[in-house]
Formats: sequence, C-alpha cells, structure tokens
Amino acid sequence: MTAAMDITIRKAERSKLQELSLENLPFGKYFSDHMLEADYENGEWKNVEIKPYQPLLLNPSVAAIHYGQSIFEGIKAYKDRQGEAFIFRPHDNFRRFNISAERMQMPAVPEEIFMDGMKQLIQLDKNWIPSREDHSLYIRPFMFASDELIGVRPSENYKFMIILSPTGPYYAAPMRIYVEEQYVRAAPGGVGFAKAAGNYGAAMYATAQAKKMGYDQVLWMDAWEHKYVQECGTMNVFFIIGNTAITPDLNQGTILDGVTRQSSITLLKEMGFTVEERPLSIDDIIDAYKAGLLYEVFGTGTAATISMIKELRYKDFVMKFDTDSWKTAPMLKSWLTDIREGRREDRYQWMWKV
Ligand SMILES: *Cc1c(COP(=O)(O)O)cnc(C)c1O
Repeated sequence: MTAAMDITIRKAERSKLQELSLENLPFGKYFSDHMLEADYENGEWKNVEIKPYQPLLLNPSVAAIHYGQSIFEGIKAYKDRQGEAFIFRPHDNFRRFNISAERMQMPAVPEEIFMDGMKQLIQLDKNWIPSREDHSLYIRPFMFASDELIGVRPSENYKFMIILSPTGPYYAAPMRIYVEEQYVRAAPGGVGFAKAAGNYGAAMYATAQAKKMGYDQVLWMDAWEHKYVQECGTMNVFFIIGNTAITPDLNQGTILDGVTRQSSITLLKEMGFTVEERPLSIDDIIDAYKAGLLYEVFGTGTAATISMIKELRYKDFVMKFDTDSWKTAPMLKSWLTDIREGRREDRYQWMWKV
C-alpha cells in the first residue's frame, strides 16, 4: 500500500443546494456542488482534486469518444435517522471497477483515489444526501481514455472522475418484458461482465424496438442458442420457482456481477429460500409457469433496487403475474432499503460510514 494520496480540495464559493428542492427529483439530472478529478499520465495517477462541479474542456480527438475505452460504476449513499452518512458496499464497486478497467485495457485506479476520494467528496457534499425515506445520493465514478489521438491503440492518458446526483424514490412500476431473441447484449469472451459504456450504447436499439411494441425492457438471452436467460435490461434477474430462487450464474462472463444481485442472494437465503446460480432456459421457465410454480420474477440493480416483472412475452406466449399478491420481491426490497437507511440491523457490514 502506498501512503495516502494528497487530494487537493477547492471549495465552491456557494452551494447550489438552496436553489433545489430534494423532492421529486428526476434520476441523474442534478449534480452536487463538487466533483473529483484525477489524471493518469506517464504511468501514474496525479492531480487528484476535488473541485466545484463544472464542464470539462476536451479536445475533439479525445480517444474515449472515438473508440470507447470508458467504464463507470453506480453506488448509493444514505443518511440514517441520526443524520450519519453511509455508503452501501462501495468496496465491491471498487473491485468491480478495476475488473472492468483490466478488460478494457485501462489502468487500475488505486484504492486511495477511488475510496478515500469518494469518502472526502461525500463528506464535503454531505448535505446533498437527502434524509427522507427512499432518497439517496447516487455516486457515479467513471474513467475514460483521454489521449488526444485518433490512432487506434490503448490510450496512454486517462481521466478518473466521481460526480454525485441526489435521487428520490425510483418508482419502479411492475414491468412488461419482451424476451429478446434477435439482438444480444453479451457473448462469451466479450465484455458483458464489465461495466463498460459501450454495453449500454449497444443495448439501446433493441430496447427501443421493444418499447415500440409496448414493453418496458428486454430479457436478454445467451448469444449462441438464444435459450438461456441472462439479464433484464441493465438489471440482473431472479426467478422464484417453488421454494427456489434461481439467477443465471456468472461463469460465461456475459453477466454483470451486480452488488444488488449478491445482496439479494444473501437475503433470499436468510428468508429461507434455496438459491441457485445456474443456467436457466426459457423452456424451463415456461414449464414452471404452466405448472403454476413460477411465483415471482424480478430485476435487481442499484438504481431501482428491485423491479417486479408483471408480464413476460416469449414469441407468442405471454406469461402474466399478479404482482400485487407477491411477498418475496416486496420483502426483499424493504429489507434492503431498511438496511441502507438504518432501520434494520446491518448483519453483513454492508454500510460503510463516511
Ligand atoms: C450495473 C449493472 C447491473 C446491476 O449492478 P448493481 O451493482 O446491482 O447496481 C446489472 N446489469 C448490468 C448490465 C449493469 O450494468
């Protein structure tokens, strides 16, 4: 471990918080007073600075725009009833960030910049964490290639940044889902396990097509056989069949190792479910539905936490669910929210005090 990195702090002259009500906030539209910025040059990280949130001045040739070496994370900070600030499992996001970096041939970001920088930034903008129930401060760390060169090669310079956005309750209405057979999100050997910007860009066309047909999202299938379920939009997906909770395994490298997914596995076990991480085919899902054993289907992710699925369409076969009668997904959501907001015991040390 190297010694603590010097982080220069330049404070904003005045806070924008007064002008903003932290109620009814659209997701990801407003940003706090400060941001963190660091540069990777000549093989080392330098210029680590927390400064007023402001636009970047970029050369049009900047490599990330052209060739997509760009990765990100999504984390949330909460306030408990005593007004103390906590971040939910940020070390897991830190580890995942550097896994994404390696796959995209980008440098690792040291813990002293990612974690200590995040901590100092949150401390400075602590007032931006809404204290109301179901509200939080969304933390967006990201890194992109900053070489000013349009030759194709891994960039030599990178920028790492963290910005913060206050968010209200993400009202996750039960979703109608289209099982996607034509387009794929990720293939074995590809970058599905990385939180790479391009994964999102590549998913938008299929999602827009599904929306035109009246669906909220697609359920991605495996790239080879279009038979095994992968993820639901940008969320991991769980199926409750009988007393077993099944979620696709991570072995092929096509699925994002979600922190909400891991947390859900832990809590589902605590609830008494058998949890299986394994390949799950659409045929097995349909068989379970027909047998009356497919009780619940839901997505998991940091933004919406748990999103129930009320309809699944595969070819011409439509599966419908009465989400109002569900017990597991709502319980999982409230357990997670209660742990994050300090109303339920933090048995697994998920909350990191800042
Ligand atoms: C971020 C993300 C998730 C959810 O991960 P969390 O750590 O739970 O937020 C799931 N799938 C994809 C494709 C993602 O990018």
